[in-house]
Amino acid sequence: MERLQKFIAGCGVASRRYAESLIDSGRISVNGKIVRQQGITVDAIKDVVRFDGNIIKKAEEKVYIILYKPKGFISTVKDEHGRKTIMQLVADIPQRIFPVGRLDNNTEGLILLTNDGDLMQKLLHPKFKVEKVYSATIAGRLSSENLGRLRHGIMLKDGVTAPADVKIIKYDDSTNRSRIQLKIHEGRNRQVRRMFEATGNDVLTLKRKQFAGLDMKGLKRGKYRRLTEEELTQLI
Ligand code: URA
Repeated sequence: MERLQKFIAGCGVASRRYAESLIDSGRISVNGKIVRQQGITVDAIKDVVRFDGNIIKKAEEKVYIILYKPKGFISTVKDEHGRKTIMQLVADIPQRIFPVGRLDNNTEGLILLTNDGDLMQKLLHPKFKVEKVYSATIAGRLSSENLGRLRHGIMLKDGVTAPADVKIIKYDDSTNRSRIQLKIHEGRNRQVRRMFEATGNDVLTLKRKQFAGLDMKGLKRGKYRRLTEEELTQLI
C-alpha cells in the first residue's frame, strides 16, 4: 500500500505536489469514486486509479532471473497434469515472469526468466543465433565419424542441424560413458537429445551450462539470482 499522491507520481503523471492538487480538484478517482481527501493509501495491484477518467498504472519493474533448474521440473508456467513447474522455484518474485525458451523435464541447468518481452523475443529469434552450452553424459564412445557429423550438421527429422562446436571432454572406461560438451546456436525442441539419438548414443544426463553468455557460477540447484547490471548490458 502507498499514499495516493505517491502512487500518482510513480505513474509519471505528475509530481507529488501537483498530484495533491489533482486530488483537491476532484480529478482522481479510486475504484470508481472521486477522492478529495489527501493521504489515503492505495494498493498498486488491486485498486483502480483514474486521472480524468483514464486508468493510470505504474510501469512494471523489469526483472531478469537466472534459475538453476533441477531435473523433474517442467519449464512452462502451468502444467495441466499437475507436475512441478519451475515457477514454484521463483514463486517469491512478485512480477509475472516467463521462461525464455524451454528445458526438458529431464534436463537441468540454466534458464532465464523475465517479464521483458522484447528481450525474450530477441533471445528466442533464430536470427540472433544465441549460444547455448550443454554438457551431456552419453553411453559409450562417440566415434570420430559421429563426432564429425555432429560438428558439421546431422540430419534430424526437421532438417540438418547447423555446425556445432562439439568436444569430447572425457571417456570413462569403468562406466563406459563419455562426457561431451556442445555449443549450439539453434533452439529446436529436444535438439541435443535428438542429435545423440541420431548418433545412437543414449543420453544419460544433460545440463545447460550457459545461455547467451550467461552462466550459473555459484548457484545451487533449484536456486536463482538476479542478473547483474553488467550481465544485463551485455545482453540488451
Ligand atoms: N536439448 C535437449 O534435448 N533438451 C533440452 O532440454 C535442451 C536442449
